[in-house]
Amino acid sequence: MRLGDPVDRIHEGTVYRPPSEATSLILQATIGCSHRTCTFCVSYIDRDFRIKSLDEMERDVRAVLPHYRGATRIFLADGDALAIPAPQLLDLLGMLRKNFPRLERASIYGSPGNIRKKTVAELRALKEAGLGIIYIGLESGSDAILRAVKKGALSKDMIAAAKKVKEAGIPLSVIWILGLGGRERTEEHARETARVLNAMDPEYAGALTLMVVEPAPICKEVEEGRLTLLDPKESLQELRRVVEKLELSNCIFRVNHASNYANIRGTLPQDKQKILAQIDEALGRSDYRPEWMRGL
Ligand code: SF4
Repeated sequence: MRLGDPVDRIHEGTVYRPPSEATSLILQATIGCSHRTCTFCVSYIDRDFRIKSLDEMERDVRAVLPHYRGATRIFLADGDALAIPAPQLLDLLGMLRKNFPRLERASIYGSPGNIRKKTVAELRALKEAGLGIIYIGLESGSDAILRAVKKGALSKDMIAAAKKVKEAGIPLSVIWILGLGGRERTEEHARETARVLNAMDPEYAGALTLMVVEPAPICKEVEEGRLTLLDPKESLQELRRVVEKLELSNCIFRVNHASNYANIRGTLPQDKQKILAQIDEALGRSDYRPEWMRGL
C-alpha cells in the first residue's frame, strides 16, 4: 500500500497480515481478535472484538474502489475473521466479487475453534465464493506449550481443523513460533511441532520467531526466569530440528517474517536438503538479522 493511501483511512488501529499477503488489499472484516488470551500476543489488545456489518464493509469498499478496482487478492483482517458466521461471510465474498471483477483470491486467519463451528459444506461454499486460503496459527505442536500460552486449542484441535479445511478443498497455511517454549522446552517444541505439521500436511508452512513485547503476559515469565529466550543460533537450531522431521506431501515452506533471524525458503519434500543447507549456512555466517531490525 502507498503513502496517503485511502486504505489507511478505513483501517482501525494497526493492521497485521501474513508475509505472503504483502501485496494484497487488506480489508478489516472484523476488528480485533475473538480470542485475545494468547500470552505472547499484543496485536489487538487496543481494541474490542466485533464483526463489521455488510453495510460497513460496503462503505469501506466504496472508499477504496477508485484506487483498487483491479485488486486480485484481498486479505480479510483482523485476527480471526473466520469468526464471522458462514452466511454473512458468503454475502461479504459475493459483494467483494461484484466490486472487484479481477479478484482471484480472498484469504483469512482462522482459529481451530471457528473452523470447528463451520461445517465442511459451509467451508466448501466459502471456497466456491472465493475464499482461497486459510491461515492457522499453530504456534506449537506441544500441548504443554499450547496450554501455557493459552492458545485455546490443543494439537488434536489443530489437526482436526486442518482435516476439515482440506476436506473442503481450501489451501491451508500453518504458522508456528520459533522459541515459544524457550530454552526449557526447545526439544519438545521442535519435535511436537514437526509431528503436528506432518499430521496437518498444509500447502504452506512457515515460522515466526518469538518477540517479547510489553505488556504481553509472557514478558513476566521471561523476567521471572521461567522462560529463557533462545538466542539466534538456538532459534535456527530449533528450526533445523523441525525441518529434519518434516514429511509433508507438497508444501511451500517460508521462514521470511520480519521477526526471523534469517530468511529460509524452499518447497517440501523435494527441497528438504536445500532448506537444511540454508539453515546451516545461516548458522555458519552468524550475521543474523539484528534485534533492532526485527519486527512483528
Ligand atoms: S495470537 Fe492470534 S488468536 Fe491469539 S490473541 Fe493473538 S490474534 Fe488472537
